[in-house]
Amino acid sequence: MEEEIKTLLKGIVHPETGANLVESGIAGALTVDTEKIVLTLQFAKKRDPFALKIKQQVETCLKEHYPTRATTVIVREGTTAPRPEPKTKTTTGGIAHVIAIASGKGGVGKSTVTANLAIALRNLGYRVGILDADIYGPSQPKMFGVEGYLPDAVREEDEDRIVPAESMEIKLMSIGFFIKPTDALLWRGAMAVNALKQLIHQTRWGTLDFLLADLPPGTGDIHLSIINELKIDTAVIVSTPQQIAVADVARGVELFRNEQVNIPVAGIIENMAWFTPEELPDNRYYLFGRGGARRYAEENGIELLGEIPIVQSIMEGSDEGNPAVGIDPRVEKWYRTIAQRIVEKTVNNG
Ligand code: ADP
Repeated sequence: MEEEIKTLLKGIVHPETGANLVESGIAGALTVDTEKIVLTLQFAKKRDPFALKIKQQVETCLKEHYPTRATTVIVREGTTAPRPEPKTKTTTGGIAHVIAIASGKGGVGKSTVTANLAIALRNLGYRVGILDADIYGPSQPKMFGVEGYLPDAVREEDEDRIVPAESMEIKLMSIGFFIKPTDALLWRGAMAVNALKQLIHQTRWGTLDFLLADLPPGTGDIHLSIINELKIDTAVIVSTPQQIAVADVARGVELFRNEQVNIPVAGIIENMAWFTPEELPDNRYYLFGRGGARRYAEENGIELLGEIPIVQSIMEGSDEGNPAVGIDPRVEKWYRTIAQRIVEKTVNNG
């Protein structure tokens, strides 16, 4: 009967790699007697997004074929089972690392930070893409000066692929390319979730070292959907000093740290940390309070990745479609340090 079960398991494939459970080594120890079947599934990754789905498939299949036996399927993750190369059925196969950029509230500069971080990573020699999933205010097209872009679909290997915009060597796909500001309400909820799934899986990303996912503020359906669809390696939280103590930030952190989700939080970036006027470059005015992010980070075991002051060039860069990292050497330096730290943490966690 073991052989029979093996044949059944050969009929179930891992959606990402296309390999069946036996050839991929996922199907592990199997015990069968007259009353029960116990099977262990071993996943190579610590957090395989498809583990639960595969477990359910296996359970259904075993119950269907052996209705009189009790079936137990045990999932083990992070073991040394061989990990076959993805057969890139989905377009995310060529992406090495995904970093989610999140915030508790809107208006704290999450999109601005995403855009500048993308340029800083590009300057370090990485191939970078941005998925702008902020359905409430998709602002990446404006930040990269490609607001009117209308994505084309091309047919490749019998699949429809959506061509991303490209600006300053950054590949950009935004939910904003598909909605008019006046439509925004309609797109919330289920429709937006479906549209985003399509953008995740059908965008022709090519080979990327980092994909930055600009999430909507707060926590909600969109977050859950993206977490399920995209293998996020690390999350970065953006906050302003006065928002840091607010429960929304804690909820955002909790979302990633939840044991079901288990995405490492690379750290917090404190944006608009202080203001320095052009004519008094040595003066710092802490308009929104001081030290809050550092305290929060220490208390919660999170790294403070960096502090970015309020700078006119950052605001102007966003408005003009030219992120400030590319034009202001001070901003370039702040973001370079942050980008290097995020790379270290993301690659090590992966
Ligand atoms: P979010 O994505 O969190 O809603 P945005 O990135 O759209 O926020 O930023 C909100 C506004 O604040 C924008 O006008 C942006 O140009 C400005 N801004 C963000 N960060 C800074 C900064 N460090 N200095 C000056 N202006 C900033």
